[in-house]
Amino acid sequence: MAYDVIVIGTGPGGYVSAIRAAQLGLKTAVVEQRATFGGTCLNIGCIPSKALLHASELFEEAGHTFGQMGIKVGTPSVDLPVLQKYRQQNVDANVKGVDFLFKKNKIDAFHGAGHIVAPGKIEVKGADGQTQTVETKNIIIATGSDVARLKGIDVDEKRVVSSTGALELSKVPQKLLVVGAGIIGLELGSVWRRLGAEVTIVEFLDHILPGIDSEVARQFHRIQQKQGLTFKLSSKVTAIDSSGKTLKVKVEPAAGGATETLEADIVLVAIGRVPFTDGLGLEVVGVNKDNRGRIVIDPHYRTNAGGIYAIGDVVAGPMLAHKAEDEGVAAAEIIAGQAGHVNYDVIPNVVYTFPEIASVGKTEEELKAAGVAYNTGKFPFTANARARANLATEGFVKILADAKTDRVLGVHILGPDAETMIAEAAMAMEFGGSSEDIARTCHAHPTLSEAMKEAALAVAKRAINM
Ligand SMILES: Cc1cc2nc3c(=O)[nH]c(=O)nc-3n(C[C@H](O)[C@H](O)[C@H](O)COP(=O)(O)OP(=O)(O)OC[C@H]3O[C@@H](n4cnc5c(N)ncnc54)[C@H](O)[C@@H]3O)c2cc1C
Repeated sequence: MAYDVIVIGTGPGGYVSAIRAAQLGLKTAVVEQRATFGGTCLNIGCIPSKALLHASELFEEAGHTFGQMGIKVGTPSVDLPVLQKYRQQNVDANVKGVDFLFKKNKIDAFHGAGHIVAPGKIEVKGADGQTQTVETKNIIIATGSDVARLKGIDVDEKRVVSSTGALELSKVPQKLLVVGAGIIGLELGSVWRRLGAEVTIVEFLDHILPGIDSEVARQFHRIQQKQGLTFKLSSKVTAIDSSGKTLKVKVEPAAGGATETLEADIVLVAIGRVPFTDGLGLEVVGVNKDNRGRIVIDPHYRTNAGGIYAIGDVVAGPMLAHKAEDEGVAAAEIIAGQAGHVNYDVIPNVVYTFPEIASVGKTEEELKAAGVAYNTGKFPFTANARARANLATEGFVKILADAKTDRVLGVHILGPDAETMIAEAAMAMEFGGSSEDIARTCHAHPTLSEAMKEAALAVAKRAINM
């Protein structure tokens, strides 16, 4: 029996795409080679990392801020096996949820590695080596990404780990060295620092968090240093000697020069992710990839091979779960004859540290480079009553609005609960809103979101509480 759609990969891109296709009446199946559904995000990415971030943030609060509010809990301690069990329970609940949704939407699931053997034909090889061939009118490739490797460094997932191993450590390392000051390195570095590790982050560039508004990144850098993270910028890790009890890590200036040796119990290599297409059979059907290994698609998610679409981390764009999801929905709608679409100008990005960073739209650097005239409105959390009550006043909200039209072009938040606040900015931008629209929207008091309103007022230089 032929399907209308088969989705290869059940990460946030693939599983959401399959559900949308089924909702639209398409006969849909998925192929997944991992034992559980949910892909990187649910199994070894967004979900387990946020469980550890949440627990370790509460641990730090209990140790540092509870006392200031008159709450006595003694010195908190970490029961790591229980913490890891809580992380895994979170993962289990989420991946089971996907299983339930597939059944609810009558989506067939094939367990095994999918290999495209001809247009409309996928061979699925199960863990037991058995193969079966399934036929379909359309294929959506949603095979996601894998960790990027550092030349000459072997990742054993025990002492030299990727993000996957760093989520599952069974002991808090004394010394953790993180290679890469991107989002994943900073999030996982924060987790283990809060739990007691001495953390050093080595970054090739001369700044952390590439791509984030530089004013936000600079202030964030200072806050992280104050919290105890050590940074070595403009530096590269060239070798790791794992013959002894502790790892000896060779670090060189990025531009070359004298090498120094740092010691660590664990090294986390977090230098990014690469699209994953191994074993898919793209060469058989002649699907084009770009020079970074990403599948090339047109604005309708179509590859150059008829009936084959691709979405998520395996195509260009930010490697984010919600970007993958929205592309999955759009591709399914396009296959069903609808006008699926993703607005790439409004994709929020969050760093789930403390304080958080959340942004949407253009950075100041991007606007300057494009020669766009803009006005800036900024409001610090020190002037927000709720942030003061919460003892969390570091950071600010910054709104960038077109100088002529006042249309919001970018919003950057460094502060508590930025992850939630950014949704308001995304909504305003999706509707083509202006800073005045946000400023004239009544915001509940006392809330952190009033900082958004005040930043919008500040665009026209009329913030009230500053
Ligand atoms: C530690 C970490 C934290 C992260 N935190 C966040 C976050 O907070 N927010 C956020 O937005 N993003 C986060 N990300 C990124 C996010 O996980 C990815 O952007 C997202 O998972 C991409 O979704 P996807 O559907 O494209 O692919 P994936 O989630 O990678 O899923 C692809 C699936 O395809 C399967 N597959 C591959 N090839 C085959 C084949 N041939 N046959 C069958 N199955 C196959 C894989 O087994 C996998 O299950 C994080 C990533 C990591 C590593």
